Amino acid sequence: MSVSNILIIDDSPEIHALVRVRLKNEPVAIHSAFNGASGVELAQALGVDLILLDVEMPEQDGFEVCSILKNHAATRDVPIIFLTGSGSTQDKIRGLELGATDYVTKPFDPAELRARVRASLRTRHLMDLLAKRAMIDGLTGLHNRFYLDAQLTLALTAARRSGEPLSCVMADVDYFKRINDECGHQFGDDVLRKIGSILTDVSRDGDIVCRYGGEEFTILMPNTSLRVAIAATERLRRAIETTEFWFHDRRVPVTCSFGVARLGETIPPTVIELADQALYRAKRGGRNQVQMCLLNDPDAEVEVAPEATADLSPL
Ligand code: GH3
Ligand code: MG
Ligand code: MG
Ligand code: MG
Repeated sequence: MSVSNILIIDDSPEIHALVRVRLKNEPVAIHSAFNGASGVELAQALGVDLILLDVEMPEQDGFEVCSILKNHAATRDVPIIFLTGSGSTQDKIRGLELGATDYVTKPFDPAELRARVRASLRTRHLMDLLAKRAMIDGLTGLHNRFYLDAQLTLALTAARRSGEPLSCVMADVDYFKRINDECGHQFGDDVLRKIGSILTDVSRDGDIVCRYGGEEFTILMPNTSLRVAIAATERLRRAIETTEFWFHDRRVPVTCSFGVARLGETIPPTVIELADQALYRAKRGGRNQVQMCLLNDPDAEVEVAPEATADLSPL
């Protein structure tokens, strides 16, 4: 079982000692902060799974700290259990309204504290699982478009900061409707799964392979120039072309068309749009080929390795 990180924010050292004793047999690592400011800092730095937050503290009280944690992306989803004085119903209500998951009344009943901590951690674990599942495509097991959008924003920020290039590839299965019509949807699904695993196996570490939707896939290539991206995409194209797909005793030719674009001075969705335009050109150019997007991009003029140019039709 994995260990969960719990952060206690309370001005009283006795409370920290008490909670540690009460939870000593639980699979948790306990971290301590003795005021709101250092608590917020630790919560952001550590990536905690649960926060036990005292209401009454001298500088910032627990409610203020709770508001700060709930307004910060890194800590928004961390469950908070308020540590309240006995009889303060108003405090309990206010805490829950501010987004806390639960409260425990001081002095704690040991069994109750453990039960509430376990319940909050269980909920947190299920929420994590749900969030991860929401980013996965059910058919291929690849990441889906939601994940792509999130990764694109991150990769874009990183590329802007570092000045490193970012390339994006759109792939679309050729004549897939015909494959479905002739061999059935089940076979079509198998083809999509297989293509997903080829793209994953053949792409490089650090590349992010997603199912964009239907029979379209996106590969985000951080720190990759257009020239390198084209060569990498040509490998993907060839890997699919040379893989044998059999429907009973008949070999079904399966190919994909690819569009490659490099991030220029553009906003995030645009790099996908540019790759999509290049893909469209690959379709019009006869399919089963790689096309790139040219935007007066000096990088695009760089010579491409000979094996990668084989199917690059002139622009
Ligand atoms: P093109 O070469 O121009 O891309 O032609 P195409 O036939 O691949 O393109 P079109 O857009 O006409 O058809 C795409 C087909 O993909 C239609 C749709 O039923 C099928 N499709 C989309 N998602 C799935 C899926 O999850 N499973 C299966 N089996 N088929 C799917
Ligand atoms: Mg206190
Ligand atoms: Mg399509
Ligand atoms: Mg298609």
